[in-house]
Amino acid sequence: MSLLLRQVLLDGVPVDILLEDGLICQIAPELPDAVADQVIEGAGKAVVPGLYNGHSHAAMTLFRGYGDDLELMEWLTTKIWPLEEKLTEELVYHGARLACLEMIKSGTVFFNDMYWHFDATARAVEEMGLRAALSGVIIDLNDPARLKEQIAVNRERFQKSLDFSPRIKFVLGPHAIYTVSQAGLEWVRDFAAENDLMIHTHLSETEQEVKDCLDAHGLRPVEYLADLGLLSDKLVAAHAVWLNIDEMKLLEKYKVKVINNPVSNMKLAVGKSFSYRHFIEHGLLVGLGTDGCGSNNNLDMFETMKFSALLQKFAISDPTVQPANEAWRMATEIGARIFGLNGGVIAAGRDADLLLIDCDRPEMAPGHNLISDLVYSASGAVVDTTIVAGKVLMQNRKVEGEAEIIAAARDAAQRLMG
Ligand SMILES: [Zn+2]
Repeated sequence: MSLLLRQVLLDGVPVDILLEDGLICQIAPELPDAVADQVIEGAGKAVVPGLYNGHSHAAMTLFRGYGDDLELMEWLTTKIWPLEEKLTEELVYHGARLACLEMIKSGTVFFNDMYWHFDATARAVEEMGLRAALSGVIIDLNDPARLKEQIAVNRERFQKSLDFSPRIKFVLGPHAIYTVSQAGLEWVRDFAAENDLMIHTHLSETEQEVKDCLDAHGLRPVEYLADLGLLSDKLVAAHAVWLNIDEMKLLEKYKVKVINNPVSNMKLAVGKSFSYRHFIEHGLLVGLGTDGCGSNNNLDMFETMKFSALLQKFAISDPTVQPANEAWRMATEIGARIFGLNGGVIAAGRDADLLLIDCDRPEMAPGHNLISDLVYSASGAVVDTTIVAGKVLMQNRKVEGEAEIIAAARDAAQRLMG
């Protein structure tokens, strides 16, 4: 299967791009139509890499607008956790499908997810055509019986995941140090090492987490993970907000990957901004995530790029920090690198995970600087076409089955709340 993008603007220059077998095959001023099975006319459209969402809880789309404006632990204990106990595989499937639809419509090509009912999210991703890293979740709440059961489930999930399409990557998802026992974290460390798996966790999101960790273990969260041998370049830490300088040095030493979630951090008022400049100056890979729809409330990476850049500027009173091109790279090239993916850059041999941007929309005019417009002016609505692994998932802003996906998710949310 091949696809020709005809006369799309690449860095402002019209080119033809041939996609074949899921990869970018050729970029040239002009290519003959006959080379491709399908042609998309690109006049007036810019081609850019797709966006990589480094931290999400896809099926939490079902909780969008439910229980806003609460403190984190109150929100979790009174709103989210009681409802999550009622989730079924079928409800999660509809929530995850809605998330995939929203991501396709706002230009996301990959997401790193952590949620209950792994199989349901995997099925949604397979059907919708996106790429994803899906976590085998561990939350044992210090209960050995629960841990034993979750270990068995995750061993089986990992085996089954080998049969999924290569668009899906299995990772281990110990939720956080305050929901997973030491034995649970040690199992994650060993199973990940044996099977060369990435680990996805929440880390140092709130000051309370640091206080509780000091009380329980006499160590701060990053020190605790270092002590357990969990720090490595296979670890993806979401948030990493409440850190002292020694903890930042530990993350640097072990080349831990970090995902900043500015919208969620602001909405849940975690009380501190992410130490972006320090991490960048010390060579850490920092990506961007939306977090779940309970704390965001959308999955639009354009909005997340803008919040990320603005929050950094505001926090340290410096408008030069995180310029537009850095926010853009966090969501594209660096996002892909963090997860060992071959996309995020437009060049021959790279993954054909691309977006066509409608440059004729008012928020994209007059068009002095495409990246500035994408980060500071655009929303996901400027994406006209989303392509993943060379397959068109959206064209002219239309996704197949859209109305049915939204209706089914509405119905699922109603049944869950009912
Ligand atoms: Zn999260």
